Amino acid sequence: MDHRDRHSASDRELGMDRPITRRDFLNGVAIGAGAALIGAPNARAAAEDEPGYYPPLLTGMRGSHDGSYEVAHALRDGTFWKTAGTPVNTRETYDLVVVGGGISGLAAAYFYRKHNPSARILIIDNHDDFGGHAKRNEFRPRGGLLLTNGGTMSIESPFDYSDVARGLLTELGIDPVKLEAESEKLADRTAFQGLQQATFFDKETFGEDRLVIGIPAGGGRGRGGDASPVTWREWLAKTPFSAQAREDIRRLQEDKVDYMPGMTSDEKKDKLSRVSYKDFLLNYVKVSPEVIPYYQKRTHGLYGVGIDAVGALEVWPRYPGFQGMNLAPGPTKRMSFTAYGEHVPKKPYDYHFPDGNASIARMLVRALVPGSMPGHTAEDSVTAQVDYSKLDHPDSHVRIRLSSTVVAAKHVGNPASSKEVEVVYGRDKKAYTVRAKGVVMANWNMTIPYIIPELPAKQKEALLYGVKVPLCYIAIEVANWTAFHKMGIRGVSCPGMYTQGLNLEAPTNIGDYRPKIAPENPILVRTGREPCKPGLSARDQQRAGHAELLATPFSVFERNIRDQFARTVGQGGFDPARDILAITVNRWPHGYAYEYNYLWDPEWPKGQSPCEIGRQPFGRITIANSDAAAAAYTDQAIDQAYRAVSELISA
Ligand SMILES: Cc1cc2nc3c(=O)[nH]c(=O)nc-3n(C[C@H](O)[C@H](O)[C@H](O)COP(=O)(O)OP(=O)(O)OC[C@H]3O[C@@H](n4cnc5c(N)ncnc54)[C@H](O)[C@@H]3O)c2cc1C
Repeated sequence: MDHRDRHSASDRELGMDRPITRRDFLNGVAIGAGAALIGAPNARAAAEDEPGYYPPLLTGMRGSHDGSYEVAHALRDGTFWKTAGTPVNTRETYDLVVVGGGISGLAAAYFYRKHNPSARILIIDNHDDFGGHAKRNEFRPRGGLLLTNGGTMSIESPFDYSDVARGLLTELGIDPVKLEAESEKLADRTAFQGLQQATFFDKETFGEDRLVIGIPAGGGRGRGGDASPVTWREWLAKTPFSAQAREDIRRLQEDKVDYMPGMTSDEKKDKLSRVSYKDFLLNYVKVSPEVIPYYQKRTHGLYGVGIDAVGALEVWPRYPGFQGMNLAPGPTKRMSFTAYGEHVPKKPYDYHFPDGNASIARMLVRALVPGSMPGHTAEDSVTAQVDYSKLDHPDSHVRIRLSSTVVAAKHVGNPASSKEVEVVYGRDKKAYTVRAKGVVMANWNMTIPYIIPELPAKQKEALLYGVKVPLCYIAIEVANWTAFHKMGIRGVSCPGMYTQGLNLEAPTNIGDYRPKIAPENPILVRTGREPCKPGLSARDQQRAGHAELLATPFSVFERNIRDQFARTVGQGGFDPARDILAITVNRWPHGYAYEYNYLWDPEWPKGQSPCEIGRQPFGRITIANSDAAAAAYTDQAIDQAYRAVSELISA
């Protein structure tokens, strides 16, 4: 088929009908109905103690998979108790129940055990795997192993890790600086050498399908590729932009202009914090509207919304347009947590395990649950398999109960003097109770008011304030990448298409994990999608994106991804019907913690921001999770866990 016709390719030509039979069975055991097709929709693991239960290997719609959120939504909608009946009393009692098995919840259990090594702890999570956003995706092409992160990607933060967060990593055996140096030594990027980044301009957004290979310095998107010796003028001449738009992009990228003459640096920063980057481009740089689609989604990866909903000051100086503005170095109060941190001097960590921070979650589980995973080091953990049948074992001091959604946490008696909390969780349409001397809520802020309705009204309002950022991390297993190699590209960014681009994953070599990177070998291709609704406030865009994600079946992702492959690398010989082996969409309708956005949010006095009001202890219940910091970073999730445990111990 001629690649020019690909955008009208039929489902069959794209391979929508392709079954992947070898995925039907893992270790000879069926892994759940519906998992037979390529990344069949809603693949969900069965019971944890069944042989072959191994959620990292599931493909299809993962992340917040079907089955993980229905109980919480029924609770929100007031229908849960109508169908659940009287809760079954498990008669289980614990020193601590942790709600949420993400890094914050696992860290809370770890800190509590340091305080009381014989403590009995139950961690309850609604997903079929632990780790929360720190999710591991595994693929087994030709009997090999390819790993990637389904969510939380790297040990990095806008600020230095605190002593607490760094200390936890050290105790687990994770030294990000050493691991980074080791992985640099082991890295073999020979196969990627000389490959460039390409940009695909799609017909629907830019008027015609056109692939432009190479990118000028400073035009970065995607995961890199070698810098191209091309100027903006040369590159723009190959694009479908009009002469006016080309000149606008060139001067935006290259010219040093002060677009706010006569203002001091502080005045400019204040103004830039009150206008979106889109407004800055249109009204200060005065680019033509035709330019906007090229930049619109550039902020999606970090903020989950486009440049219409991100302040211009947030992206200074990473994005073009500020090079002649004479802004004094340093942050201002009207910056998000992320942007503020970028301006603070630090010794940053930047280490990426092959499965992202799922490695941290796995090492926490290894430390908490005896026999759950072999080995002792960060290096040996990467290829080790978790034995899920050990997670919720009655003999273990720490138990992790998956596929269970907490629907109520209520003090037995008066919260001010009570010594016990009853926790109710829903699983398989039934409700169950357990009791604990204390509870750490390491789940998502906006669910807490439904679980603890007796919280003060002001605290509930504060907990409901932030709207988590919806987004998807997508991994596609392909049989080979000879098409990319032939075309001389390492990835294609797609500023107008359904997903943000198709980029070859460069694995982090560590321990025994050293996949052989060669064009004829299988590899993972990464992309993402951040649904939002330009024109609304950031929080309303996130609400709209959340609804869109939950309403979108896997087949829509699959069709779009196949089409994207055909149109971008089809000309190099890539055949989506033949070459795509599996697709995993890690869907996170409630993704990043909401960071304050000063286009809409006020400057709260210290102690008065919603996350500070929301995280106040309530009797024997305390609140952790990255939402409690209004900051979507692993160190924040750990720090909040430490605070929540400290509050509980001293209550
Ligand atoms: C796609 C993505 C990429 C990211 N990348 C990075 C990165 O590179 N570096 C970084 O530092 N941070 C990153 N983050 C931020 C990440 O959220 C934090 O780093 C950290 O993993 C958050 O941990 P947590 O335990 O606070 O929350 P979560 O990981 O969200 O865990 C909370 C858990 O509680 C569960 N839960 C919610 N309600 C209930 C209930 N009622 N009952 C039972 N369980 C419940 C949730 O389903 C979830 O499993 C990323 C986040 C996302 C979504």
